[in-house]
Parts: sequence; structure tokens; C-alpha cells
Amino acid sequence: GQAKRSTSGDNVKVVVRIRPPNEAEGERFHSVTEAISDHMLVFDPKVQRPMGFLPPNHRDVNRRRFKDLKYAFDYVFGPSSSNKDVFEQTTGSIVKGVLNGYNCSVFAYGATGAGKTHTMLGNSQEPGVIYHTMIDLYKRINEQRDEKCFDVAVSYSEVYNEQVRDLLMPRGNLPIREDKTVGVIIAGLSLHKPKSAEELLHMLHFGNKNRTQHPTDANAESSRSHAVFQVFVNQRQRCSNFNSEVKMAKMCLVDLAGSERATHTTNQGARFREGANINRSLLALGNVINALADNKFKGHIPYRDSKLTRLLKDSLGGNCHTVMIAAVSPSSRSFEDTYNTLRYADRAKHI
Ligand code: ADP
Ligand code: MG
Repeated sequence: GQAKRSTSGDNVKVVVRIRPPNEAEGERFHSVTEAISDHMLVFDPKVQRPMGFLPPNHRDVNRRRFKDLKYAFDYVFGPSSSNKDVFEQTTGSIVKGVLNGYNCSVFAYGATGAGKTHTMLGNSQEPGVIYHTMIDLYKRINEQRDEKCFDVAVSYSEVYNEQVRDLLMPRGNLPIREDKTVGVIIAGLSLHKPKSAEELLHMLHFGNKNRTQHPTDANAESSRSHAVFQVFVNQRQRCSNFNSEVKMAKMCLVDLAGSERATHTTNQGARFREGANINRSLLALGNVINALADNKFKGHIPYRDSKLTRLLKDSLGGNCHTVMIAAVSPSSRSFEDTYNTLRYADRAKHI
């Protein structure tokens, strides 16, 4: 099933996840992002609430006026939400689409430390959206076992410095190719068939260790790469003849590079190029999603502007489902990052 382009933006879903405050944020900072319902959050509210256990007397009288901005999203997850909750409201509804032959893409967007990797990958106590999505996919496939044959394979790669690398079988840079029948492919990328949930989790954590990471002044754990987990699903009617059509679909789940501004770190030489390329991919992705979400947009979709958007070309738009999970810290410590992330997410929404 090659996806047809539709003029509707209904296939784009944008959610925001506010992570719990960490210890460093509890002391001197206040909460700047609050979920006020399942669909709305307020940024920099007039009524300031302290974080942690401090009494509410931390109102800074010298502060500029509060922004007090209300944003509506398809879903707003507060600090007590679990990865399972996020899965249920996001990819939970699009696995069905994949089994019907439609490609889809899921992104975790946000500054370093905002909770992207926690959301997508998670840890052994709290596995992430990728894990829940795969479990759900296998469950649905099992339910249809009598009528259809399925073939599922996964890959894990990263886009770093506008180059694509395999995270599960690391070697050189891999080229992106476009094939008339199978769509966009990363040539030479290794495909894997995990036999159990444990094997899948092991594979994900192994791949994550191979991500390119560089210490920067802003955050030693800062990640400048986009991690792309892909699931390829082929299906065929079980009792039909050999000529029966093979339906192909793929799901792309992406843990994007940190969206913080390059000015937050000391970017010089090679690092500066990294920063520029990350911005290019994130900017290109924003432009593509923005164009797709706009019912009235008639121009050409700028997929070719970055490696990431080229790679995702056949998983974005048309009948493909797209979910953007914007991750933010609750704390005033991340005021600018959160404000930028909310504006990016707001622009990605259906217009
Ligand atoms: P990012 O990938 O966006 O840089 P991480 O996912 O690594 O951020 O999150 C930063 C830190 O906050 C990690 O220690 C992570 O475990 C923790 N964290 C993030 N989101 C949550 C959450 N929803 N619940 C508990 N801890 C979280
Ligand atoms: Mg991360």
C-alpha cells in the first residue's frame, strides 16, 4: 500500500509531556509549565506554584510580566503520567493503521534533559513507547494469525551530522535511496527479528549505547544525534495464491537530537557544524510537518532539505499518521527551552 496524499491534516497529532521535576530543579526554581486539563497547558502562569516542598513564597517581585500562555494540544501529559499512558494516547491508535498498510512516524522533540529518551526508550522498570508499540504490534499480529502471514523486522539507526549510521551493526555511513516499489531505504542497514520482548529491549539499549554523544558545556549527556527506530511489516493473505499482493508498511519512531539553541553551548569548529546540521534537520522537519498540517498548503513539501526528512519522506504526509511528542521540563530553569519547544509544537499542529 503506497500512501496516497490527502489534503487533510487530521493525521497529525501533537502532544506535550511534562516530566517530573528533578532534585536540582526543586530547590531554587518554580514550576513554569502546568497541565490544566488533558488537552491544555499553561506556560508561565500568573499564579506561581513552588516545586518540591517549599512554601509558596518564592514569587519574584522583580520579574517581568508573566506570559501566562495557554496552549491546546491533542493531549497534555502531566508529571505523573507513565510511558504506557503516553503510548496509549499516541502510537496506540496508529499500530492499527500500520497493519492496514499505512506508514507512520512518531517523534520525541525537546531540549536535552526534557525526557525524550525516557519517553521513547525508557528503562527496565519503565520501558518506553517503542517497547509498548512493539508489544501491541505483536499482539495484534497474533490475533490475525489465522488469516494472514506477517513478516516483521526492525532497524535502529542514527542521523548524526547529516550522515546515517547503523546503531545495531556500526560501520561506515550509509546512503539513503529511493526505490519505486519499496520506498525510501537506507542501503546496507541491518534488519533484525527480535524473538522476545527481552531481546528487543536488549537490542534497543545496545543501539542506544552506540549513539554518537559528545560532552558539551550545557550537558555532559547531551545527544546531538537523531535515533531512528524503524519497524517494517509485510503481510499477505494466508490462503490466497502466490500472486497475492504483499502489503508493506513501516513505522518510524524517532528520538530527536536536543532542540536547545546552539548558543547554549560553546560551539566551535566541528561542533558548530553539528549544531547547524541539527538545526537544519529539526527546522526541515518542522517545515514539513507544518506544511502537511496546513489544509490550504498547495506548495511542494520540502522533504529534500535534510537527511532526516529525506529518510522520513514516505512516512510523513498522505495517509501516514504522524505523532509529535514534545517533551518539556516543568521548571523555570528551562524557561527558554520550554518556550521554544511549545512554540515548535504549536506550529506543528493542524492549522
Ligand atoms: P532527553 O533524552 O530529552 O535528553 P532524558 O529522557 O534522558 O532526556 O531525561 C533526562 C532525565 O530525566 C533522565 O534521568 C530521565 O530518567 C529523567 N526523566 C525524564 N522524563 C521522566 C519521567 N517522565 N519520569 C521520570 N524521570 C524522567
Ligand atoms: Mg536523550
